[in-house]
Amino acid sequence: MKVAFLGLGIMGRPMAVNLAKAGHEVVVWNRTSGKIVAGARVAGTPAEAAKNAEVVWLCVADTKAVEQVLFGADGVESALRAGMIIVDSSTIAPSASCKFAERVAAKGAQFVDAPVTGSKAGAESGQLVFIVGGPDQAVEKLQPLFAAMGKKVIHIGKTGLGESAKLGMNLMAAMMYEAFAEALTLIRKLGVPPEKWWELIQSAAVRSPLIDRKAPKVFQRDFTPSFPLYLMHKDVKLILQAAHESGAKLPALEKVEEVYQMTSKEQQGLDYSATIAVLEKLAGL
Ligand code: NAP
Repeated sequence: MKVAFLGLGIMGRPMAVNLAKAGHEVVVWNRTSGKIVAGARVAGTPAEAAKNAEVVWLCVADTKAVEQVLFGADGVESALRAGMIIVDSSTIAPSASCKFAERVAAKGAQFVDAPVTGSKAGAESGQLVFIVGGPDQAVEKLQPLFAAMGKKVIHIGKTGLGESAKLGMNLMAAMMYEAFAEALTLIRKLGVPPEKWWELIQSAAVRSPLIDRKAPKVFQRDFTPSFPLYLMHKDVKLILQAAHESGAKLPALEKVEEVYQMTSKEQQGLDYSATIAVLEKLAGL
């Protein structure tokens, strides 16, 4: 298929690499120039990338970035045609996905929200899970592209519900990591040897694949970003916004957001596991 891939960050670049590897005709664009993908042509603007594409796939930072790439200067909008499918793998506000879907539908194009889980390693190995909202027949047409980048597609329902399901999942990720970070801080203050405590966690019902992946790096003080802290903070705020819009109350997540507010400018680009440094500082460790 002819695919324009817009946004070549930690997630987008390996996704575009896997599309090109699978034999699709890929044109890429990134806001900051200089990023290349083997087997893909580089375009100068989103509109140029989208010109002859059947599918335009986005993976950029946030709601504002998606809006700019689609509808800003030199955005995708001027290249929209009937039958084109816009797919957004960025994690953004579900209500914004619905608005963007209406705007592209005015030109006969369809919009599918397809945020992902699997992080950097899943993007690189083509093992992402796509969490999808959108019309059945558009989702069906995308199957060869999903297959090139991922191991599973869960079609949740109509437009916006992919993002809604993703927010529900990231609510758990932010709180599970915070639970681990607070527990580790406490046991260190109490004098429990961390390696003995970790042995206990590995044998207990609280064990989780998420913490299994994060903990060894925390013990090594390796905060190289898989999922940058600034993006998890963005997701926490999106979740609180969605709760506000829908009338749900999330008192524990509001407290977690306070921890993200206390992070320094330098910590924004590190992995979100670096939020433990805030707790350590508060505890005088
Ligand atoms: P990243 O490495 O920080 O990359 C962000 C990308 O967005 C870059 O290509 C950046 O361009 C682009 N961008 C930012 N603002 C823009 C704007 N105003 N206009 C155009 N492009 C803009 O982030 P990532 O980890 O790839 O994440 C991308 C999306 O996937 C986010 O929504 C994130 O929440 C989601 N996600 C990430 C993970 C993960 O583990 N990393 C997992 C699941 C979902 P420049 O190169 O010019 O800065």
